[in-house]
Amino acid sequence: MSTLPNLSYYEATAGERATPQPLAGRIDTHTCIVGAGFAGLGTAIGLIERGQRDVVVLEGERVGHGASGRNGGFVFGGYSLDNADLLAQLGPERARAAYALTRDALGTIRRRIDAHGIACDKVEGGALLVNWFDEPAMLTRLQRLMHEAFGVEWRLIGKSELEATHVRSDRYFGALLEPDAFHFHPLKYALGLAQAIVAGGGRVHEQSAVRSVERRGAGWVVRTGAGEVHARELVIAGGGYLRGLVPALEAAMLPIATYVMVTEPLGARRDRLIPSPAAIYDTRFAFDYYRVLPDTRLLWGGRINIRDRRPGDVARFLKADLLRVYPSLAGLKVDFAWSGLMSYARHKMPQIGRLADGPCAGAWHAISFGGHGVAPTTVAGELLAAAIAEGRPIPESFGRYGLARTWGPLGLAAAQATYSWFETRDWWRARG
Ligand SMILES: Cc1cc2nc3c(=O)[nH]c(=O)nc-3n(C[C@H](O)[C@H](O)[C@H](O)COP(=O)(O)OP(=O)(O)OC[C@H]3O[C@@H](n4cnc5c(N)ncnc54)[C@H](O)[C@@H]3O)c2cc1C
Repeated sequence: MSTLPNLSYYEATAGERATPQPLAGRIDTHTCIVGAGFAGLGTAIGLIERGQRDVVVLEGERVGHGASGRNGGFVFGGYSLDNADLLAQLGPERARAAYALTRDALGTIRRRIDAHGIACDKVEGGALLVNWFDEPAMLTRLQRLMHEAFGVEWRLIGKSELEATHVRSDRYFGALLEPDAFHFHPLKYALGLAQAIVAGGGRVHEQSAVRSVERRGAGWVVRTGAGEVHARELVIAGGGYLRGLVPALEAAMLPIATYVMVTEPLGARRDRLIPSPAAIYDTRFAFDYYRVLPDTRLLWGGRINIRDRRPGDVARFLKADLLRVYPSLAGLKVDFAWSGLMSYARHKMPQIGRLADGPCAGAWHAISFGGHGVAPTTVAGELLAAAIAEGRPIPESFGRYGLARTWGPLGLAAAQATYSWFETRDWWRARG
């Protein structure tokens, strides 16, 4: 595994990419967006769809370089914050409305894929939450919660049906299927969005890391090494990769690494072991997540850590996780392994809004989508685009989840300790 390439499966299969056009000299625009992940791209395309085409996206690396181009490809409802906690914290009406935004986001993503002809290997297979514990009540409780509080129907699947039609592993005790979910090649989707932005009149400059942002009069001056953008509005969407630019935001989120590997094709083993077209994850706090790709390779992800790791290490520990579920795949070769950084707030909800004070007062931001961010970044893009183009307020629910400090290295150590504690608790619980 030490000879694994230093690139992701997604990069290897994204096809021909446009030559980067780094920012050079001065340009003027209405809205400047920092970061070409789903939050930044979603805001830009949302503005264009609302008729505001004068938008510039600056990306320090390449489009989709961050979590958006490296993730598991699950597109499902909800946020990183558990749905039961969302309900407890926001109350029935607001929680339902906040969840509904993520369901709408699934429709928005599907519509954009169709409207712009984005070939991103979409599989309409739903998301399958498999139960790691022999506790049927866990699933029935969750099914009831989703129905009663959020108005969505997740289908209960018993152990024998699960084995007959979805996954053949002794590890699991039934499942819940979220039928409206799907999965896709996230980097192809990000690249498709960037193309649609350019086709719609916007500009996307890659290899244009923003070094400073400065308030000037009613607008902003945004500087890279080689150029500057003068903009009326500024949006910061740098995810877990934001460093040294806007301290108020960076102090409010933790960059946390998580890992993915892709194996060689399963071939005939696919039908034998994982015939399900769904994206699959389990009920532990530290869950595995996986899906079979259209070419029958198995994409497998899991674990969080405060460190980025080398591909060989990632492959080794994820392969061990895989074998706990499918021991017969011991000989399966790993072809790709990588890590990515998520940004997390202490409260596990996205931080979407506008800075009220400090040197960057007035800048819009969309960060901290955690490990469940494809739909929520789309929500953020829509909310910010509607705020900028139409003057609509950001829903109060997001204001409630403010920019609470995360305390840097101390916060990271606490996050790692919490993760280890939950991991141990789940291990103990699974012993029966
Ligand atoms: C391995 C992994 C698996 C995941 N799996 C899933 C999943 O299956 N489903 C799901 O819903 N969510 C998943 N997530 C979470 C999801 O991918 C993220 O929440 C989401 O993509 C975050 O998008 P973003 O736009 O906020 O950040 P990013 O995608 O990280 O984008 C931020 C961008 O800003 C750029 N940037 C930063 N600073 C600057 C600067 N100064 N100048 C210019 N550019 C800058 C970065 O280079 C980067 O490209 C996963 C995350 C990871 C890491």
